[in-house]
Amino acid sequence: MKAGFQTMLTHYGEENIHGAVVPPIFLNSTFAHDSFEDFQAGQGYYYSRHSNPTLEVLEKKLAAMECGEAAKVFASGMAAISAVLFHFLRQGDHVICSTPTYGGTYGILGPYMKKFGISVDFIDFRDTERVRAAIKPNTKLIACESYSTFFMEVFDVAAIIGIAKEHGLLTIVDNTCASPANFRPIEWGFDIVIHSASKYLGGHSDVIAGVVISSKEIMESIEQIEYGIFGGALGPFEAWLVTRGIRTFGLRMKQHADSALQIAKMLEENSNVARVNFPFLPSHEQHELAKKQFDAPSGLISFELHGGKASAARVINRLKYFKIGVSWGGFESLVYSPGMHGENEQFTGTPYEPRMEHLIRISVGLEDPADLMEDLRSALESA
Ligand SMILES: *Cc1c(COP(=O)(O)O)cnc(C)c1O
Repeated sequence: MKAGFQTMLTHYGEENIHGAVVPPIFLNSTFAHDSFEDFQAGQGYYYSRHSNPTLEVLEKKLAAMECGEAAKVFASGMAAISAVLFHFLRQGDHVICSTPTYGGTYGILGPYMKKFGISVDFIDFRDTERVRAAIKPNTKLIACESYSTFFMEVFDVAAIIGIAKEHGLLTIVDNTCASPANFRPIEWGFDIVIHSASKYLGGHSDVIAGVVISSKEIMESIEQIEYGIFGGALGPFEAWLVTRGIRTFGLRMKQHADSALQIAKMLEENSNVARVNFPFLPSHEQHELAKKQFDAPSGLISFELHGGKASAARVINRLKYFKIGVSWGGFESLVYSPGMHGENEQFTGTPYEPRMEHLIRISVGLEDPADLMEDLRSALESA
């Protein structure tokens, strides 16, 4: 019998060591062997840069959560993304990447990859035909996010996967924002799933971690150089923290979804708010698509004010429970505005540029939604 999601999060991949209900942390760097022959046989663990039992508990759980065959955990989401890109890309390759995309991903694929002779087109995936038109004879892979984390835009997953399969392109998705509670990309046909576990998977804003999930074959080939030799393995204590976070993942995501929906509805009705970017609102132009593809929302919402940067600053400074900071996905509510961060090359000259200044993004945490709504309502009076 296939266990339910929370049951799997509780039990799957756990090791029974002296009956400890929480598996211990293997902090050792190296593993001793019984004999010359035993070492030579190459069985089991030998060095924690390659593999470690504490990491394996987490890797098994993450692979199961994403319906993948295997996973490797990395020192950050960016370490995971870099490992995958460096594994697959060769000089002369072309990449199609969705935009907007996470700043770090843009940092690698945008300016940086040029020095290796790799070209990248950033395309708005809401227009499927533009993705098809961007394919060149040297296109190797399609990279995207399950939904974007500033404007929460979604795209037609089945259509994009169809195009990729037609042209024999690899597909890589950053599923950090939708999370495996709400979207399982491998079931939709993606080849590789990446996460920043620093967000919802960890969930407690106390760890930086990343993961790659894929077929056994792909993971074994990434393990050799880009995992084991590049040296971006997660530390055992950090792995243990992510495993602890994951035990409550399903429950947390239900609360994030429930609170976010209430808050998005409240924001939509507030006359100081010009627009709410949340495709789970029935009034949103992408609602039907979002409903079809995702089981539920996560806790990330952005909204736009009538005024500019000064108006956004007044609202942000008045908030009490929403702390000002980057990142999201933790137990605590956070607020961020791209206007605080200076220029963002990715948006220069695009229709997004004028929207950035008055955009406010909130990560809805696990506080009582009534308190969060009161906080927002009162701060918005100063918009
Ligand atoms: C945070 C984030 C990353 C990077 O993860 P780190 O753990 O901070 O390295 C990648 N993609 C998305 C969508 C993110 O939000």
